[in-house]
Amino acid sequence: MSITANDPTRKTWLEVPENSDFPIQNIPFGVFLTRDDIITIGTRIGDTAIDLGALHQLGYFEGIPLTDDIFLQDTLNDFISDGKKTWRLVRNRIAEIFDINNKTLRDHEEHRKVVLFSLDEIEMQLPVQVGDYTDFYSSKEHATNVGSMFRDPDNALLPNWLHIPVGYHGRSSSIIPSGIPIHRPQGQTKPKDSDEPVFGPSKRVDFELEMAFITTDANHLGEPIPIEEAEDYIFGLVLFNDWSARDIQTWEYVPLGPFLAKNFASSISPWIVTLDALEPFRVESPKPEKKLLPYLQTTGKKSFDIKLEVFLQPENGEENKISESNFKYMYWNMSQQLAHHTVNGCPVVSGDMMGSGTISGPTPDSYGSMLELSWKGEKPVRLKDGNTRSFIEDNDTVIMRGFCQKENYRIGFGEVSTKLLPVFEPKKK
Ligand code: MN
Repeated sequence: MSITANDPTRKTWLEVPENSDFPIQNIPFGVFLTRDDIITIGTRIGDTAIDLGALHQLGYFEGIPLTDDIFLQDTLNDFISDGKKTWRLVRNRIAEIFDINNKTLRDHEEHRKVVLFSLDEIEMQLPVQVGDYTDFYSSKEHATNVGSMFRDPDNALLPNWLHIPVGYHGRSSSIIPSGIPIHRPQGQTKPKDSDEPVFGPSKRVDFELEMAFITTDANHLGEPIPIEEAEDYIFGLVLFNDWSARDIQTWEYVPLGPFLAKNFASSISPWIVTLDALEPFRVESPKPEKKLLPYLQTTGKKSFDIKLEVFLQPENGEENKISESNFKYMYWNMSQQLAHHTVNGCPVVSGDMMGSGTISGPTPDSYGSMLELSWKGEKPVRLKDGNTRSFIEDNDTVIMRGFCQKENYRIGFGEVSTKLLPVFEPKKK
């Protein structure tokens, strides 16, 4: 079935600001609270949020096999379970409804009043209930930087890295949407000059510039997903800030890997941009440097050209762009990650979230964490106000943005913005 929703020449009767991340060719999916405090599944064109629950009740999805309440839910999980064919039919229909030449909704004021919202009337929620969250470590530049800093610059990559998309199981309970502030975590660290660990606020809170993909029900226990089918099970992507406490991480990660340094918060952009919408932006992945085992071999363009930016905004201050990277730098692509994840028969279900790992580019201004940008504090990052940062300070806000650019339109992700508050103080009784 062709993706008519991607037609680059289509115009909409809704107003779309120039350079919007959300032209009619995007049609992402999200969950929001409406002005009447009702939770619904929706999409967005320009700066207009569209209530898909209301559209469905008014009959606009007639002919597409959908249950009556599919969009009247507080997560996208069931819709995602419906599978790729249904996502395509729905996106194609939304494109038709909002096409500049389609009068049905355009000229129906009563319907428009029920279906359309301005962004200040809604509150974005987590789009899916994340059952399981896995984080990969798939940027060669990032793994090399971290290996150089903490082990040995001559053997920065561990022997398995070029053979396996390395990953670990994270924790889904602390995944939050953009706009929710977090507290500086406390924990155990071991200062360099001490023989014993100490307890207290992390002094090295960091972001990780990542993207995450969200899956549909993919396989049963015991059944691997063949690599050439992997993309059929990817619904879409979000921006992902995988908050990290580097000093806690350094002390705790041996031998089982990240634990409390990583599970206090991970923030996502609230609109899921579908893999279908990203079709025009496919690019080749980096060439494998070692011959891969057959289950990890891909053909064709399996990576995507998504420009990524990180901004740091001190309290009451200006935004400072501190990094520019690109999703296409990933050494391991999503198909390889999903094939590897399931090769042992591990089941993947609707709403699972797979983080890419920190996405660092080849140059120092394209690194995806403060750890790398400030080279573990040795080269603090200078801000416009004259101050510097080695790691994230209290009341700083970290903002990530991402978009794909064509000559006459862009498909964007909006942003994920999170403020770091001081350590949580329990209320005095
Ligand atoms: Mn991570």
